[in-house]
Amino acid sequence: MRILITGGAGFLGSHLCDRLIEQKHEVICLDNFFTGRKANIQHLIGNPGFELVRHDVIDPFKFEVDRIYNLACPASPPHYQYNPIKTMKTSVVGAINCLGLAKRVKARVFQASTSEVYGDPNVHPQPESYWGHVNPIGLRSCYDEGKRAAETLFFDYHRENGVDIRVIRIFNTYGPRMLPDDGRVVSNFIVQALQGKDLTVYGEGSQTRSFCYVDDLVDGFMRFMEQEKIVGPMNLGNPGEFTMLQLAELVLKKVGGKSKITHLPLPSDDPKQRKPDISLAKETLGWEPKVPLEQGIEKTIAYFSEALKKG
Ligand code: NAD
Ligand code: UDP
Repeated sequence: MRILITGGAGFLGSHLCDRLIEQKHEVICLDNFFTGRKANIQHLIGNPGFELVRHDVIDPFKFEVDRIYNLACPASPPHYQYNPIKTMKTSVVGAINCLGLAKRVKARVFQASTSEVYGDPNVHPQPESYWGHVNPIGLRSCYDEGKRAAETLFFDYHRENGVDIRVIRIFNTYGPRMLPDDGRVVSNFIVQALQGKDLTVYGEGSQTRSFCYVDDLVDGFMRFMEQEKIVGPMNLGNPGEFTMLQLAELVLKKVGGKSKITHLPLPSDDPKQRKPDISLAKETLGWEPKVPLEQGIEKTIAYFSEALKKG
């Protein structure tokens, strides 16, 4: 198949490019390089099945493709808050452009939605049937509401125009190729520990997240895209739940060194807890994550330790 991946030079997108190229598909990677890097897909350049296109998803595009994975959108809070209006445009106009293309060329289109659609949830763990608890006017809203509006567009194009959609809600995912200055917690803690700096826990560190290793997630993406039973939304993530203090202690234990834990103010609207209910993914895809946090953290430490040496 010929497959378009928007945001294909980013953290998740580049791993997806690798897997699809391994399976002998033709991959078109479209990216504006806001948080993505050529280094992430450098090894694919020259491969006859791979094409790289510098383009912004808010400007229309046309490709004859069978599948579209729409991943374009900065995912880390400092990056998506850097230009919040652009973030909203990327989610909403980007979704319209992907859906319009899918309608025209009859491609199946996949949306990388997020656990942020649940906001600061008061149902725990979060099943897909939960409608969420989201601030529409806060600092995180450009991302959360942008992704919610994108889901609405996906389902309206599906109902109104019969577009073949797949919508997944991703819970915090980590691994090699995150940016060292990405701002998300796993990369922050690992880079801080490797550089002998103190680990910056926001607030008391009692807030929880559930961390999925990238290989597990990408496996779930591909299984979900190619099944015919449901269009989603479907949660994908690792249900293991940890406080930020537990994560900091794990990173300190694995890296060693002299770093300590320091506390910084909690950002506004920071969700207190998050854990996916993955019953639907288990039943429909026979999917569940295989890589435990400790093992995934070790692999990610190994990656950053090399990446920091290279500079
Ligand atoms: P990332 O920031 O590494 O990747 C996003 C990619 O999109 C980058 O390559 C960036 O340059 C590109 N991009 C951003 N705006 C663009 C635009 N206007 N036009 C073209 N390209 C653009 O983040 P990621 O972790 O790889 O996330 C990928 C997708 O998955 C995002 O849509 C994100 O919202 C979603 N997601 C990720 C997580 C996670 O934990 N990693 C969780 C929930 C949802
Ligand atoms: N966090 C932290 N220290 C950091 C970065 C993040 O304690 O250096 C916390 C943050 O407040 C949040 C959690 O870690 O509670 C996850 O943050 P991240 O930005 O990775 O993802 P999100 O909040 O979008 O789930």
